[in-house]
Amino acid sequence: MSEQPPVKQQGEALENLYHEHRSFPPSAEFAAAAVAQPELYEDAAAAGPEFWARQARDLLSWDEDFTQTLDFSDAPFAKWFVGGKLNASYNALDRHVEQGRGDRVAIYFEGEPGDTRTYTYAQLTEEVKKAANAFESLGVSKGDRVAVYLPMIPEAVITMLACARIGAVHSVVFGGFSADALRSRIDDAEAKLVVTADGSYRRGKPTQLKPAVDESLVRDGHSVQHVLVVKRNGEPVDWTDGRDVWWDDAVATASAEHTPVPHDSEHPLFILYTSGTTGKPKGILHTTGGYLTQTAFTHLATFDLKPETDVYWCTADVGWVTGHSYVTYAPLVNGATQLMYEGTPDTPHQGRWWELVEKYKVSILYTAPTAIRTCMKWGRDIPGKFNLDSIRVLGTVGEPINPEAWMWYRTVIGGNGGKKEIPAPIVDTWWQTETGAHMIAPMPGVTATKPGSAQVPVPGISVDVVDEMGQPVPNGSGGFLVVKEPWPAMLRGIWGDPQRFKDTYWSRFDNMYFAGDGAKKDEDGDIWLLGRVDDVMNVSGHRLSTTEIESALVSHPSVAEAAVVGAVDETTGEAVVAFVILRGSAKDDADIVTTLRNHVGKEIGPIAKPRHILVVPELPKTRSGKIMRRLLKDVAEGREPGDSSTLADNTVMSQIAESLRK
Ligand code: ATP
Ligand code: MG
Repeated sequence: MSEQPPVKQQGEALENLYHEHRSFPPSAEFAAAAVAQPELYEDAAAAGPEFWARQARDLLSWDEDFTQTLDFSDAPFAKWFVGGKLNASYNALDRHVEQGRGDRVAIYFEGEPGDTRTYTYAQLTEEVKKAANAFESLGVSKGDRVAVYLPMIPEAVITMLACARIGAVHSVVFGGFSADALRSRIDDAEAKLVVTADGSYRRGKPTQLKPAVDESLVRDGHSVQHVLVVKRNGEPVDWTDGRDVWWDDAVATASAEHTPVPHDSEHPLFILYTSGTTGKPKGILHTTGGYLTQTAFTHLATFDLKPETDVYWCTADVGWVTGHSYVTYAPLVNGATQLMYEGTPDTPHQGRWWELVEKYKVSILYTAPTAIRTCMKWGRDIPGKFNLDSIRVLGTVGEPINPEAWMWYRTVIGGNGGKKEIPAPIVDTWWQTETGAHMIAPMPGVTATKPGSAQVPVPGISVDVVDEMGQPVPNGSGGFLVVKEPWPAMLRGIWGDPQRFKDTYWSRFDNMYFAGDGAKKDEDGDIWLLGRVDDVMNVSGHRLSTTEIESALVSHPSVAEAAVVGAVDETTGEAVVAFVILRGSAKDDADIVTTLRNHVGKEIGPIAKPRHILVVPELPKTRSGKIMRRLLKDVAEGREPGDSSTLADNTVMSQIAESLRK
């Protein structure tokens, strides 16, 4: 993968082929009580960056007020809330206790084996204070980096907040990543401490984490002084005396008194390596004041959060940015009650998620399109066995959501299997590790939502779709998604590589942040994400979006999931190749390939008909659930698949090869 801006070739903008006309306005009742009201957009437009200054002062507690809202004089490097001082962990914890909310539940934890724990705000505050003391006694101080390699257990949140409290910079690495991936991230950030666990549980079996940490540290020349180990599954582990410390020894015995020190608004909060869907991960740097402001604001407005009454559940792993912004930081800063679940959705049965929704009366659910498509594949009878009546807002993130998956989510989950008269609104949230917080999303009480579209910029955010010259495209056309003004939660750079930051995001267009995604504006000016520009196909001079063809395939009842790539073709430049997972009985249909080709021709147009349709048992996905199309492109073009180290399941590529040999 080159470090150049990911534009494959110049030429006309993306074609806009797929049409979806359904639209669902909010109910009058929902709209009347909603956190976000229509005036929010006008306020934000009139106030400019001062809109964010207002949010920063309303939503956060500052030890010292800021003197300047935005300093963009060293563009593209931005400073927000200059001169302000605050502590992220104080904002997420202590202040709720001080203001009489100490008994409110912060986290309901449910382990995969069914063990449970509940933390009130007072209890979570105490745990974080102890962890902060323990980290300091292990030699960690302000500015040091801490690598976090933990499963989805409360200690992950506690560790992140303890780091923030003392001003140490956390770098969370997905528990599913290999020893090599962990080591390269430890080295890049020069982490002093690694926080890990003996292991976790996955699909009913214990899994291991500590051995990967040991393996990653075998080769000398690393920066790690201590490895702090949470006991989670009790599996035996190797031990390096002097280096390794049990969490229970260090944290459980630490003092529960810890005074948070104020940090500068621009003090680094964390580094997070992007999920690596397209190439070598980048160490994205986020700082404190702006990040907390935009995550807290969007969490309230996009999800219509009512912290006193809602039970919020975001299914993302803390190893992903969604788990940072919308599990660890925003919900706690907002004083919400949330559910945290350790395991997979199909353990011990395929209804586990819905059982959890019923048990905890989850009212806001935030997940990824891949999970929704998987549940669709399993069938609606499974969620149908549970009472999902508590759900009142649904969110998605991570990939474009196909309209069919959106409709299923609305009816089966948001509509409690059709039993609810007015289904819960869906908010499709577009954002990136780099943007830190939601950038494009409907507001559930304001926007009439459309299946498959993230629609409108968040109030205070300025995005557009432009052509190759950087000019806004007219409604009805496609192009490149850009952000036109700095935003509070924007990345402050790539760790240790300022030039790469400029090259990757700011060199494609003058004075605009180039997100790397293709998008179109519909006739109303609403934005539809069309997939990564890297994945755009050029077929006989037509620039086609992977997302649109995939959505057309998924709209056929026989298709559970689809991934589309362009493969080099002598006559057309590129040919569309589709990989599909079929549902149940469709597997025995001899004509299925012809049927699906014709279906795409009818839904989109003859130009989009896949040249080849390959039926496969699985699709390659990252741990965050995104399809890795570049590996499929390797298959389509007859090469050995490239680097697959960030795959969730590294047997998938051989399963695909095997199925194609038959
Ligand atoms: P890498 O940058 O390393 O290739 P990544 O882009 O997958 O990894 P993330 O920052 O987790 O890492 O994902 C952001 C990307 O996910 C966006 O650029 C976009 O392609 C996609 N995405 C996220 N949310 C949405 C959404 N609601 N609709 C469409 N696409 C989305
Ligand atoms: Mg990306």
